[in-house]
Amino acid sequence: MLRLTEIKLPLDHSESALADCILDRLAIEADQLVRYAIYRRGVDARRRSAIAFIYTLDVEVADEPALFKRLANRRHITHTPDMDYRLVATAPPGLTQRPVVIGTGPCGLFAGLVLAQMGFRPLILERGKAVREHTRDTFGLWRKSILNPESNVQFGEGGAGTLARSRTRAFLAARFSPNSSRPAPPPKSSTSANLTSAPSASSAWSNACASRFTPPAEKSVFRAR
Ligand SMILES: Cc1cc2nc3c(=O)[nH]c(=O)nc-3n(C[C@H](O)[C@H](O)[C@H](O)COP(=O)(O)OP(=O)(O)OC[C@H]3O[C@@H](n4cnc5c(N)ncnc54)[C@H](O)[C@@H]3O)c2cc1C
Repeated sequence: MLRLTEIKLPLDHSESALADCILDRLAIEADQLVRYAIYRRGVDARRRSAIAFIYTLDVEVADEPALFKRLANRRHITHTPDMDYRLVATAPPGLTQRPVVIGTGPCGLFAGLVLAQMGFRPLILERGKAVREHTRDTFGLWRKSILNPESNVQFGEGGAGTLARSRTRAFLAARFSPNSSRPAPPPKSSTSANLTSAPSASSAWSNACASRFTPPAEKSVFRAR
């Protein structure tokens, strides 16, 4: 696979514009392009009047060695690096002891996943509350200045990742909020005008979800100033 970087297109570009750029950059005919995948899409907003997408693409072409030889030393065309993750070990058969992972934050969950994939049957321990109470207690601190020292940003299922802003937070709020329907998601943005308004639409949606939580009084251990 070839990796093409710094492909710049306007925000409202058509889908076919990507393929056209690839053909142009590689100087090939359409029948030589087997497939491509978007590895990364960034937004170049340095000039407000010309906001654009910047793509990094992985491209499969017919007769890649010959093409790469012809394009050798071209800027922004390289081989796609091998980024496959390889498990570093396999659990020996009959292993009776199990590794223990402390905490269900992003690190603990990922460590548990990888250990399980290697066959180690990990035990993951969490000292905080389940995600629903964890989320509710933390919103209690943010919205009503009520701190529960045992259930907050530091302690609780999912770790601080549960409270990460943006859609994760909105998703959890919507997913675990009782007796209410999920609000409509924020509009997708595809123009520069929408891009500037998208964050506020998104946070309004988050707030609409989050505001359904009322921290239960009996869980309030300490009232912060
Ligand atoms: C408000 C907020 C918003 C954030 N937003 C973003 C974002 O938008 N994007 C982003 O990339 N990052 C964000 N972060 C950062 C991100 O959440 C953290 O980098 C990430 O959660 C760290 O993961 P971790 O697993 O190392 O630790 P943590 O997430 O802190 O998880 C630690 C876990 O261990 C548990 N634990 C602690 N002690 C014990 C014990 N003795 N026994 C058992 N369990 C224990 C805790 O209860 C917790 O579940 C945000 C952080 C905060 C606080």
